[in-house]
Amino acid sequence: MHFGYTGKILTVDLSTREIREETIPDRVYEYYLSGIGLAAYILYDRIPAGVDPLGPENIMGFVSGLLAGTGSLFAGRWMVVGKSPLTGGWGEANCGGSFSPAIKRCGYDGIFFTGTSEKPVYLYVNNGGAELRDALHIWGRDTVESEAMLVSETSANSRVAVIGPAGERLSLIAGICNDRGRMAARSGLGAVMGAKRLKAVVLDGKKRIDVHNRAEIKRLSQTCNRWVQFQPPIFAGPVAAYIGALMRILPVQMAMDGMVYKILLKKWGTGGMNQMSVEMGDAPVKNWRGSSVDWGIKKSLSVNPEAIRKYEKVKYHCYACPLGCGGICSTKGKDGETHKPEYETVLSLGGLCMNADVDSIFHLNDILNRAGMDTISAGGTVAFAIECYEAGILTKEDTDGLELTWGNSEAIVALIEKMIRREGIGDVLADGSKVATRKIGKKAGAAAMHAGGQELPMHDGRNDPGYNVHYSVEAAPGRHTVGAQMYYEMFQLWKVAKRLPRVKPLYFKARKYIADEEKAVTAAACSKFMNIANCAGLCLFGVFLGAKRTPTFSWLNAATGWNKTPEEYLDIGARIQTLKQAFNIKHGIDPRTFRPGDRVIGKPAQTEGANRGRTVDMEKLIRDYYRQFGWDPETGRPKEESIDRAKLRGDEYGI
Ligand code: SF4
Repeated sequence: MHFGYTGKILTVDLSTREIREETIPDRVYEYYLSGIGLAAYILYDRIPAGVDPLGPENIMGFVSGLLAGTGSLFAGRWMVVGKSPLTGGWGEANCGGSFSPAIKRCGYDGIFFTGTSEKPVYLYVNNGGAELRDALHIWGRDTVESEAMLVSETSANSRVAVIGPAGERLSLIAGICNDRGRMAARSGLGAVMGAKRLKAVVLDGKKRIDVHNRAEIKRLSQTCNRWVQFQPPIFAGPVAAYIGALMRILPVQMAMDGMVYKILLKKWGTGGMNQMSVEMGDAPVKNWRGSSVDWGIKKSLSVNPEAIRKYEKVKYHCYACPLGCGGICSTKGKDGETHKPEYETVLSLGGLCMNADVDSIFHLNDILNRAGMDTISAGGTVAFAIECYEAGILTKEDTDGLELTWGNSEAIVALIEKMIRREGIGDVLADGSKVATRKIGKKAGAAAMHAGGQELPMHDGRNDPGYNVHYSVEAAPGRHTVGAQMYYEMFQLWKVAKRLPRVKPLYFKARKYIADEEKAVTAAACSKFMNIANCAGLCLFGVFLGAKRTPTFSWLNAATGWNKTPEEYLDIGARIQTLKQAFNIKHGIDPRTFRPGDRVIGKPAQTEGANRGRTVDMEKLIRDYYRQFGWDPETGRPKEESIDRAKLRGDEYGI
């Protein structure tokens, strides 16, 4: 008897149309948990070395979290995994909404697809079984429209993960949507779905999740919820910019407490940080060349938290979320109801392209969500194209007549529409800036801001070098959802786990830019912990509240009946990190190629703005990080003994 997880996965061969239920031994869960750990266990073993990510041998999985459906709060994230066509290595993205518990209600911890279907299909699973159905009638339709049609032809209770035209056209920056336009956007896994001609996964199960100690989970959730609901009145939206400016000027910094971030999130959503981040040097501007000097308070005022929130009609909560950082917005324009654009979207389509036209950002958010194209990569690729245009590397002839200048919102909209349709210059850019560089020519490379092919998020590692470490060292590079110095401060792991450094409540900012070993210890702790959060299916914003207020480890023990210590869980997180790194080595990735370009790490240092004069010894930080996992400090390759199959597969557990 097991609790918390279902102990089963569903495997679907799209070539042969064979659908099989597979029982996974309990010992696997003790060794890798569920969610991202289970996915790493399956994919490392089953995807042959060197396969084409868009070919039939790639396997993609949709996995739920161990805590989904258990009564634990914030436990609504699902993860999509596969070999990434964007980076060539481990691909991973996650999303909220209501799809994660739907996987478990069908009786599975994950659903894995291999093969390629001859014609477009979708998988439908309910309590009666699983079947592949014809999807020709929805092929070509956008994600929101497709979801509505699939719900209407199956059940009002169906939960749908679906690709749009971007995934169908194999754009390497395509994601997968659920809940009317929320997106698991990163790693280009929408293209894998498109290549497999799998339009959607539609789930309508009603199974209950058994847990070991429901009363304890309830008690833990009630305590957590009290922290979430504590919401004092705060400053008006535009004031945030001045707080950011103050943070830029002061030589000292307070360690970030997740409660402060939670208060902003609960009021405004992620957009609460829009202007503040530009001012304090967290948000890159003008394709990472600029700063708040170029896109100052007057320009960024158009995206201040209130300017975004004024369109919000109702707050949006993912499954089991007491916070509700999302919002359903209605603009006067043609977009109708749409999800509130997130911080990442606003800044990548805003300051990164010097675009202060908030209406265009709302519109772009909507069309990209409907197309199923990653807004971060789309914004990063447009900024790349504008810089190429400015440098004369792209001409008006190349851009089909578009005047690609900074902040030209009409041209930016037209360009992204072309990228979605793969039309003219849009086809050159539809696979992101790394592929576009190959098509345009070498000179364009200096303008491509990516790590391993993935466009960088809107957090500047010249402000918090922890971001640059994680952009470079994670198996799925260039993602902001794993770690940073500020994340370590918010996770507060030292309060529950032994041997982790405590952060001082107030410190001199200059300390952030010293490449000492403690930074590697804390970065490794972030990677390990976020693997556990992604095994559990917890939202990053939930775990930002701190390890005591959001009791990840206690929830896991109460759900499963295990009695693991936080240190034991973090060891599992380390094992998963090594397995993902080993996946990349198996597929011929050299981890050193994941470093973002010199501009991103401050070489040469900026001469104005919040990050002026800042260059950090990234090579030392990365070497020290690799050492934390016992990998080769120079190459990032796990040593033979740690990559050893028996050890990774847990021989001592008899797996
Ligand atoms: S905090 Fe926001 S993203 Fe996280 S679960 Fe809640 S609504 Fe979803």
